Amino acid sequence: MLIKQNDGYYKNKRMKKYTLKNLDCASCAAKIEGNLAKLEEVKFVNVSFATSSLTIDTDDFEKIKNKIKEVEPEVEVIETGKEKTLVSNSELAENKWTIIKAITALVLLLAGIIFNDKLHNTPFHIAEYIIFVTAYLLVGWKVIALAVKNIIRGQVFNEHFLMTIATLGAFAIDEMPEAVAVMLFYVVGELFQDIAVNRSRKSIKSLLEIKPDYANIKNNGNIVKVSPEDVNIGDIIVVKAGEKIPLDGEVIEGDSFIDTSALTGESVPRKIKPKDNVLSGMINQSGLLTVKVTKLFGESSISKILEMVENASSKKAETEKFITTFAKYYTPVVVFGSLFLAVLPPLFIQGAMFSDWIYRALVVLVISCPCALVISIPLGYFGGIGGASKRGILVKGSNFLDALTQVKTVVFDKTGTLTKGEFKISEISPSNGFNEKTVLEYAAYAEYNSNHPIAKSIFESYNKPFDNSRIENVEEVSGHGVKAFIDKKEVFVGNDKFLHKENIVHDKCEVDGTVVHVVIEKKYAGYIVISDTLKDDAIDTIKKLNNKGINSVMLTGDNKYAAELFAKKLGIKEYYAELLPENKVEHIESLLQQNGKVAFVGDGINDAPVLARADVGIAMGALGSDAAIETADVVLMTDSPHKVIDAIEVSARTRRIVWQNIIFALGVKSIFIILGIFGIATMWEAVFGDMGVALIAILNATRVLKG
Ligand code: ADP
Ligand code: MG
Repeated sequence: MLIKQNDGYYKNKRMKKYTLKNLDCASCAAKIEGNLAKLEEVKFVNVSFATSSLTIDTDDFEKIKNKIKEVEPEVEVIETGKEKTLVSNSELAENKWTIIKAITALVLLLAGIIFNDKLHNTPFHIAEYIIFVTAYLLVGWKVIALAVKNIIRGQVFNEHFLMTIATLGAFAIDEMPEAVAVMLFYVVGELFQDIAVNRSRKSIKSLLEIKPDYANIKNNGNIVKVSPEDVNIGDIIVVKAGEKIPLDGEVIEGDSFIDTSALTGESVPRKIKPKDNVLSGMINQSGLLTVKVTKLFGESSISKILEMVENASSKKAETEKFITTFAKYYTPVVVFGSLFLAVLPPLFIQGAMFSDWIYRALVVLVISCPCALVISIPLGYFGGIGGASKRGILVKGSNFLDALTQVKTVVFDKTGTLTKGEFKISEISPSNGFNEKTVLEYAAYAEYNSNHPIAKSIFESYNKPFDNSRIENVEEVSGHGVKAFIDKKEVFVGNDKFLHKENIVHDKCEVDGTVVHVVIEKKYAGYIVISDTLKDDAIDTIKKLNNKGINSVMLTGDNKYAAELFAKKLGIKEYYAELLPENKVEHIESLLQQNGKVAFVGDGINDAPVLARADVGIAMGALGSDAAIETADVVLMTDSPHKVIDAIEVSARTRRIVWQNIIFALGVKSIFIILGIFGIATMWEAVFGDMGVALIAILNATRVLKG
């Protein structure tokens, strides 16, 4: 990944996306990326092999096109969206043509082998040559042409080159059937690989195809179909049963069940009634819904999610980067190794024959092709990201998948993360001549504009006619509470810390639960005790982390009584209370000094700095909280803490499969190389081995997606 302009790159509106047709090796993707990044006109570039796409920020696109032509002549740049019919038709035709040529070559090869004696007995073996050379050129012409083209451009070492010298070498030592067979199987194997890669690309992309196509907009009693991009805030849209909800909005009429699985990974349908919020990408299952649009399509959760997943492949894992570098040195080493193998033993070992050792060298060449690794590893990571998003977990890059597997400590925010954040009022205790009604009323008015779970709960408990013109000058003091003017009177609502900060005289209160103090015109008016409940799966989550040997820590801005109560219930030994957001950052920093990586899980309300500081920042229930989506590395689409376990498990699975592929491919290849050197493996076996390994590795990589 080469980013010249790192911060906020996925928000950049200048960024354009293109499809790269015929991008069939990951090292070519890296090469294009590297060359484009060197250009001055390019501010940002990413080439993703897994999605065969180019994301670029530049003013001079012609120059980019030319550069790509120069680096990889076969690759075509197509504007995303326009490629669909174009690609599939010509690709199908191409595949058919390859198959016809391969079958013809196979028939010739078989004929050549069966009638070998007769053909061999013609003058100068002319018939033999005609048959085998025709078959060879039929399938191999393109490969040779590519190899030559690349040599002219100064890029000698690649698969095509390997195959070309291996087969020409076989002709040179008069192993003609072998030469044809190697080329034939290589080409057919490539075809299978292409099909497998395209398939898994498609299934990854289909995950992203949750984008709605149209909106039914209500206009003077008429219903008009328009594109979601053309709908404005405040427009009224109608969503029929079975349709996708095209934009984020509030239901104004109708009851229904909606399927949120595309966004949340949750399969149970959600009941929806007027005043509920709905999000673009959800599917209306039963009734007719009338929705007032609250966000432009470009700002909707679904657009952000799609952007995020598509950009995820630009943050590459170490393993991925390593393999690309590895392939760059590996191929020349193999070529020179084989050259020595062909030349040195016959010179120094008595009785060793050139033809024998050249044959052995050719076997080594054929088996050494690095394609299995180079293709299957990025595909594996992309599958991991796709598989996670299927479960309602958005991972912003394969580097975070890797980091998740190394997490030794998970730090949880308390309110809204481990607890529901739905506080119930258990006591109102007025002081200094105020009464219960006034305390609650002023608290509710002051909290009206805040998004904090405490604020929302207090406002909901108030439940009386509301006149928001009484509120002025609201100021939220993070970690403390809210300050506002109600009926022109100064009101503070917040915790004990807030009282000290503002020097308010108050009686000390030690109560179980969370306490919210109310101050009117600098006079202490009393407190409200509220209590929260744990989320259903919180205890189970902590237990499972424990079983995995991962330490759980709880941080909270709440008082120590409430913190202790919940920590005990959860079985968390390490917890810190009464923290301001900056104190939470300090705690994360001290945890970062210890062994292993640290993940922080928060609900996105005033914990963005902590999310940013942790090795892996996980934001939860992010549907709706934009700040969290932008700062977090991993976004959990629902409020369930258990998704943390799911995320860790998907990562572990991805890593396992990627390493299986690395070990499997290198293992099989090393065995064949040794067999080749000792003259045990034949070229036939080598070419089968090579293609087999590549196909198995690709199929294995697509397993990540399913899991
Ligand atoms: P946490 O999510 O760990 O509880 P916060 O930083 O969100 O931490 O809040 C810390 C504390 O600050 C809360 O427990 C509460 O006492 C106080 N507080 C923050 N915002 C408000 C608010 N809007 N109304 C009342 N108290 C608040
Ligand atoms: Mg919080």
